[in-house]
Amino acid sequence: MPDPTSLPPDPADAAAHDDGDRRQLTIIGAGLAGALLAALLAQRGWQIDVYEKRGDLRELGYERGRSINLALAERGRHALRQADADDAVMEQTVMMRGRMVHFVDGHLDLQRYGRDDSEVIWSVHRGELNEVLLDIAERAGARIHFHHRLDSVDFDTRVAHFGDDRSEDVRAISFQCLVGADGAGSSLRQAMARVSELGERSEFLGHSYKELEIPPGSDGGFQIEANALHIWPRGRYMCIALPNDEGTFTVTLFLPNHAEPAGNAEASPARTEAAPSFDTITDGAQARAFFDRDFPDASRLIPELEHDFDHNPTGMLGTLYLDRWHLDDRAVLIGDAAHAMVPFHGQGMNCAFEDCVALADHLLRADDRADAFAGFQAERLPNARAIQQMALENYLEMRDHVDDDDYLLQRELGNRLAKRHPDRFLPRYSMVSFTHLPYAVALERGDTQHQLLVELTQGRESLDALDWAAADALVEARLPPLPQEA
Ligand SMILES: Cc1cc2nc3c(=O)[nH]c(=O)nc-3n(C[C@H](O)[C@H](O)[C@H](O)COP(=O)(O)OP(=O)(O)OC[C@H]3O[C@@H](n4cnc5c(N)ncnc54)[C@H](O)[C@@H]3O)c2cc1C
Repeated sequence: MPDPTSLPPDPADAAAHDDGDRRQLTIIGAGLAGALLAALLAQRGWQIDVYEKRGDLRELGYERGRSINLALAERGRHALRQADADDAVMEQTVMMRGRMVHFVDGHLDLQRYGRDDSEVIWSVHRGELNEVLLDIAERAGARIHFHHRLDSVDFDTRVAHFGDDRSEDVRAISFQCLVGADGAGSSLRQAMARVSELGERSEFLGHSYKELEIPPGSDGGFQIEANALHIWPRGRYMCIALPNDEGTFTVTLFLPNHAEPAGNAEASPARTEAAPSFDTITDGAQARAFFDRDFPDASRLIPELEHDFDHNPTGMLGTLYLDRWHLDDRAVLIGDAAHAMVPFHGQGMNCAFEDCVALADHLLRADDRADAFAGFQAERLPNARAIQQMALENYLEMRDHVDDDDYLLQRELGNRLAKRHPDRFLPRYSMVSFTHLPYAVALERGDTQHQLLVELTQGRESLDALDWAAADALVEARLPPLPQEA
């Protein structure tokens, strides 16, 4: 199997290839994945056309209210390096060393993500990142056509039909093959599903999100620790905040859509009223009262809370599963269009970026495009499923476990075992965030490790009397050495 983490070298002379006609691609969507794929292939001599329904965000500015900033991890950075985009992107980022947990009683605890500052994640503004990628793609020769909304596709004649949100204009454009990088609501996916069964199903989480903002302090600086991802875990719901390079934080409130009846065991302790939900907190004034009660330290820092709650959209969260990502040699899906996931591992974009490298790699190596698409799907689909599952599991961890004693003891033991067996034991979060190990491998090894931690901490309040020799033996028996690339 080709190495998914590095692309073959640029062809020295595109004219030397007699398959010039074949090296064309029409990408739908100039978001994060579409722009990166365009850059990767244009840099390697391909003719790339990208059709984007919105206007050029470099001229119009970025639309607020839609996951303004994102956590970039090693996988995403590795993909950016393949397009020489990492340096330009990193100029816009803020380092996040760990989770800063805000407990109900007001005390704080920084839980580091990795061993040291070489194992961190980075907060980046979606709009700024997208701009960098669009610039790089265009500089490499990709043509980006804004205000082109894919409406329908005739796969027999290989003609795609586009509309323009500003007018009644429609355009018909011939293509050799289409790549759907048009996000979770993909129009290309819908067009493909009309001619072929994709095995599509969506599972909605039953929880949604709303974005708010902590502005800079009076000195223009960050009002809370800048180099952390802040979490306010509250059982069935939570807030998080990621820093932006201009001194603000984007706060995201995650809440159930519907109220749990009073007295539900899962609901917050000692509550007699219905647990908070988007059903019960419906306007800015109610949101302020809720924040004052449950997130008082955050509430003080969000002066526009009422306004933002009333005006920012409520985003839905769900997981999209498909059994097939491509239609022979005519179309293929990547990123959210193929496998949208809940955002709790901060990996949707990182996974989409890995898709771009993998697809480019298969296209550059295979003679036949249908083979390239099939190879891409075979490599990436199991990994997408794995990170989708881990993202769902991470919601429980973030909102309910990070302040739990059993979890903290298991975490401490995990860190100690990782120090004792760096070649075998790597916390799952680290495998996902700091290595290029396939997600499916991270999931499987993570399950084995979790089982081991549960067994070794059962009935304990500390690690004081732990039999370390027995623990070491268990690690060696159950966890084969990590592959070298980790
Ligand atoms: C609240 C939230 C927080 C998140 N946090 C993180 C995080 O911390 N880290 C992380 O890695 N991921 C995160 N994600 C996930 C991440 O946002 C997505 O995985 C990523 O944006 C997927 O990129 P994409 O290019 O596939 O889709 P998108 O970024 O959605 O881009 C799709 C593009 O296609 C265009 N388009 C749509 N329809 C059409 C059409 N018919 N014709 C032409 N163009 C069209 C759109 O305008 C857009 O430009 C988060 C998501 C959410 C909702």
